[in-house]
Amino acid sequence: MRLNETLAGQLAADTGLWRDFNDICDCGGRLAGTESEKKAFALLRERVRAASPANSGRSIPVPYNGWRAGRATLRLPDGTMAACHPLVRTIATPADGLTAEVIDLGRGTPDEFAEHAAEIAGRIVLVRHELMFAAGTIHRRRKYDMARAAGAVGFLIGGPLPGHVVAGSSGRDSGAGIPALGIAPETAARLARTAAGWPVATMLIETEEGPAETETLVYDYPGETDEWVVLSAHVDGHDLAESAMDNGSGLASVLAVTRALAPQAATFRRGLRVMFFSVEEWALTGSAQYVQALSDVERAKIALNVNLDSVAGSPNLAALSSGYAGVEPFLLKVAEANGQSLRVVRPLMTNSDHANFAAGGIPAIRLVAGFDDPAAHLRVVLTAADTRDKVAQGELRQATLLTAALVAAACNAPPEEAERWRAK
Ligand SMILES: [Zn+2]
Repeated sequence: MRLNETLAGQLAADTGLWRDFNDICDCGGRLAGTESEKKAFALLRERVRAASPANSGRSIPVPYNGWRAGRATLRLPDGTMAACHPLVRTIATPADGLTAEVIDLGRGTPDEFAEHAAEIAGRIVLVRHELMFAAGTIHRRRKYDMARAAGAVGFLIGGPLPGHVVAGSSGRDSGAGIPALGIAPETAARLARTAAGWPVATMLIETEEGPAETETLVYDYPGETDEWVVLSAHVDGHDLAESAMDNGSGLASVLAVTRALAPQAATFRRGLRVMFFSVEEWALTGSAQYVQALSDVERAKIALNVNLDSVAGSPNLAALSSGYAGVEPFLLKVAEANGQSLRVVRPLMTNSDHANFAAGGIPAIRLVAGFDDPAAHLRVVLTAADTRDKVAQGELRQATLLTAALVAAACNAPPEEAERWRAK
């Protein structure tokens, strides 16, 4: 259960961890379909090659519905223009914009939508972004779906950080949808209902759509049996900043753990499969395609998915166990044996690639920092403030050490232990 001292020492001294994290941030925000995303994939290839020159890995093509935004503007009731950011895969407005009254539904809970059901049709719904890493959080996608279902013609979401717009995915698949913009909290405040009625705003969004393709990178380091532990992180992000916490932190950790464990994998009971997914911000498309393509036999051979997403930005780490209660004692044992505190959160949260493994019957966890901590830097994920200065080197190293310990222990766990992980 305890990571062996040589490996722990190697990881503690690995200067590549911080170098990789900074180099990934230097690629930019890594929005899928941009040069920034391509640069990040090239960097990851180069760094894995340096760690294991004999393993060239494989690339799985990932077709998806490409999307790119052009101009986006928001005109407020007094005629001034407010900063805004098109949500990923939003539809375009008519060329001269979409003008409608704005109905502010606060946080955007199902109750608020229900109470205002008769007032939403034909209006633009305004809701608030909330801390994603918290129990009971209502995902932006659900709010968007509720707005659409109630007949809204547009969707605005107010960000968490004063002076900053917020990014994110609109939640639209590929068909019909409504125009969606992220705005700053001050802008949301200027769209409050007054005695005069609902304020009127004009949204204008230009987009380009068409077939696109990205990839999933896979590196297999076989163990003694044909079973696997999958260590994964998503490459893509948003274009407002450098997507440092989400998910430069996870990528750098995966690289460091690969450097440490890949040379040892042949002595493990199970092999180590390292995976880099993209279009995670596109409704988890890369991992969805991967898991869907696996046969039942292949799924049964994967003992555990350890998915790293936003693992620094707070010293507090949590493992989302995706309903797999049977894996929780194992996670806690490994954390304790390595002197780390770890919180385990059971409900399945469909907020990263682990959710597709879990839904496919594979025990899956997401390691995340700052869960239920409204003061953690993670609160500014999806804004222009998701920058490298929010990540302390010590936090990143702590997450990396815990990950290495979890993955090594999972690779070596006896079959009866691994069998328990599949219990819900
Ligand atoms: Zn993420």
